[in-house]
Amino acid sequence: MGRLEEKPNFFDLTRDDLARILEDMGEPKYRANQIWEGVYKHLWGDPTDFYPIPKKLRDFLLEAFRFHSLDVVQSLQSKDHKSEKLLFRTNHGDHIESVLMVYRERRTLCISSQSGCPVGCVFCATGQMGFISNLSSGVIIEQVIHSARILKAINDRLTNIVIMGMGEPFLNYDATMSAIHTLNDPGGFGMSERRYTISTVGIIPGIQRFTRDHSQVNLAVSLHAPNDSLRNQLIPTNKKFPVKDLIAVCREYIETTRRRITFEYALINDVNDTVDLARELSLLLKGLLCHVNLIQLNPSDHYRKNGSDLTKAKSFLGVLQKSGIPATLRLRMGLDIKAGCGQLAYRDSLLKQ
Ligand code: SAH
Ligand code: SF4
Repeated sequence: MGRLEEKPNFFDLTRDDLARILEDMGEPKYRANQIWEGVYKHLWGDPTDFYPIPKKLRDFLLEAFRFHSLDVVQSLQSKDHKSEKLLFRTNHGDHIESVLMVYRERRTLCISSQSGCPVGCVFCATGQMGFISNLSSGVIIEQVIHSARILKAINDRLTNIVIMGMGEPFLNYDATMSAIHTLNDPGGFGMSERRYTISTVGIIPGIQRFTRDHSQVNLAVSLHAPNDSLRNQLIPTNKKFPVKDLIAVCREYIETTRRRITFEYALINDVNDTVDLARELSLLLKGLLCHVNLIQLNPSDHYRKNGSDLTKAKSFLGVLQKSGIPATLRLRMGLDIKAGCGQLAYRDSLLKQ
């Protein structure tokens, strides 16, 4: 079936859209809430199984909408069983990945906002695969619903969602925010905005819009270098959105929303991990309501650098902490299944393993 003829995705609908459609059909008012609650709270699957709904309406839903846009192509579990990577193919044939991480009482799902990514950071496997497509809000939601169903089957549930999978969410702003808005609905999936974190490479207009939206979603900014000469080498968009301008909009965000920003910093051996750079970073962030998340770079095929060793990572951390910058060294998870940050890249070879 060509793109033009395809059915609309049910998960692209807002609750108001659904209410309007059913009202036009002469259905009673409570019906939209009943279906919404069924799909988002009870995680109903196919409309043929929507038993509380009259058959005629089930048949209509089945005929009118797509309830399934993602096929699981592969699922890989890490040896310690703490992370599971899911490779999906969308109904358009594009590949995306999400990662479910279990850590103590947390069940965190890392989801994709795009297939591939147009930014092309040198250290990131997704960036190296190029841009394939923007995901619709429905497809972003379906990644969440898929893992929520897996957890429900074992009487468990998601606690957090991070938009740190494939892609740059602020280059697909509307779809990403609308997915969160739908999932936030207390009469449906009911995961409140405070449980999400959006990570951006520093797309300035996106941060400004996010500031105006006064969203309760947490914001993370991938910094990785405290000055332009180094950041330009790592992150191509830094030429358009340089460090000083980026920090200025971050300051505006903090002042307007009174919310803290997390700065992500992947430590790359002999590239951005010196004590001098730690001092420069401390100066740059001085006085900002923020937290620095350090992570040792995860290996990726196209970038022949290593993550800093633990000794160097700890001394970088020490400099920040001594300067009064709140910082932590983050755990690395899922490395054996290439499910760590920046390792998500669809490759044919994966399927041949
Ligand atoms: N595009 C967004 C979100 C997806 S990337 C962004 O860049 O923020 C999610 C996180 O993984 C970002 O902080 C990114 O800088 C980081 N990352 C990318 N490649 C990495 C690697 N090889 N090792 C560790 N972190 C990496
Ligand atoms: Fe895109 Fe983020 Fe990877 Fe950079 S780090 S290429 S912005 S996904």
